[in-house]
Amino acid sequence: MTEIPKDHPRYESLVARERIVHGIDMGITSKQGLVAQGRGEAFDYLIGERTTESAVIAQRVAVAHMLLARSPVISVNGNTAALVPELMVSLADVLDARLEVNLFHRSDTRVHRITEHLKSHGAGMVLGTKGDKRLDLSHDRAIVDEEGIFSADVVLVPLEDGDRCQKLVEMGKTVIAIDLNPLSRTSLRATVTIVDNVTRALSNMVDLTKDMKKGSFDPLQDIIDNYDNKKVVSDALYTIQEHLKNKAEKIGVEWI
Ligand code: ATP
Ligand code: MG
Repeated sequence: MTEIPKDHPRYESLVARERIVHGIDMGITSKQGLVAQGRGEAFDYLIGERTTESAVIAQRVAVAHMLLARSPVISVNGNTAALVPELMVSLADVLDARLEVNLFHRSDTRVHRITEHLKSHGAGMVLGTKGDKRLDLSHDRAIVDEEGIFSADVVLVPLEDGDRCQKLVEMGKTVIAIDLNPLSRTSLRATVTIVDNVTRALSNMVDLTKDMKKGSFDPLQDIIDNYDNKKVVSDALYTIQEHLKNKAEKIGVEWI
């Protein structure tokens, strides 16, 4: 990977790009993953490349759901495997959740490579190689493991496809999405929508989980009962609007 100087003003974003490109070179990320990352970057720019207060609220409720779940699963795709393998493993560890590889551009080789990649970052069991159940969808993200996503009650789906997100919700599951685009079908259909970069969101969620397990927050069920996902999505849109307005003021452009 190209070494990015730490003092570069776009350090985080350039490192993320290097990781995705490296993921392609390793055969774990699809070329289409580059485009998805680009769309994410654009929305991150609009939101101010920071974790908003409402994203933290969504992260907290997401952790509460995962901690109370009977069978929580974290879905891993080619982008998250390349960007945040160590954080996916840490989060699964602290939450006592299982990792399952699930790919839109699926091949057995890629599933195998991602599994090995996660294991090289400390993962124990990684689901997704069996693929012994199918969701009612016409693409390969339909292929899931019976003991994983198929029977899970809560699924964390960073960078999910809108169709599958809806299907999982229809199956009665609690679906937690991490997606920088508050208007994607995924964001609008998930039970909990975390509008944040997956790199920042997963890191916060690891810390939140440790704190919440110590009981330093409200009872988990109260956190869930007091949550309003529509408000979180609308806050994300408002943040984008305010951010653009501030930028316009700074450069002396009228905000209509
Ligand atoms: P949908 O199918 O839900 O309408 P989409 O078709 O717009 O989504 P996909 O290509 O299915 O998008 O998935 C990419 C999504 O992931 C985009 O919404 C993009 O904003 C988001 N995304 C990409 N990179 C990141 C990242 N690093 N952190 C968070 N979100 C990201
Ligand atoms: Mg999509």
